[in-house]
Amino acid sequence: MGCIFCKIIHSEIPSEIVYQDDRVVAFNDSNPQAPTHILICPRKHIATLNELTEDDTQLVGHMIQSGQRLAKQMDLAEGGYRLVFNCNPGAGQTVYHIHLHLLGGRKFSWPPG
Ligand code: 5GP
Ligand code: ZN
Repeated sequence: MGCIFCKIIHSEIPSEIVYQDDRVVAFNDSNPQAPTHILICPRKHIATLNELTEDDTQLVGHMIQSGQRLAKQMDLAEGGYRLVFNCNPGAGQTVYHIHLHLLGGRKFSWPPG
């Protein structure tokens, strides 16, 4: 399979992994958009949010919980941080293996661009 995030998860291509467990792998984004920019990926290949099912509910909760824990570890909890899923081209998704962006360390505007 040609999925770049599956390759990262299976250590077939290098990345800066900051957290991993039996369900998720989190690594630094190679083109960071903020001082902290981490991608939290499920080990399970799911192409987009549209493919999520009821069976994935706990997994997605665990992804968010992992983001929250990493944000605390990075000292972002007080000042604020952003957790983002992009779905499909209109939202800017470029890698078709779902991932939660953890962005922090600078001020973010709303609405996003
Ligand atoms: P998306 O646009 O799909 O929401 O986010 C994909 C993210 O993956 C982008 O922020 C991009 O910089 C990052 N990315 C793409 N390829 C690689 C890679 O090979 N390694 C790492 N660490 N990040 C990547
Ligand atoms: Zn994948």
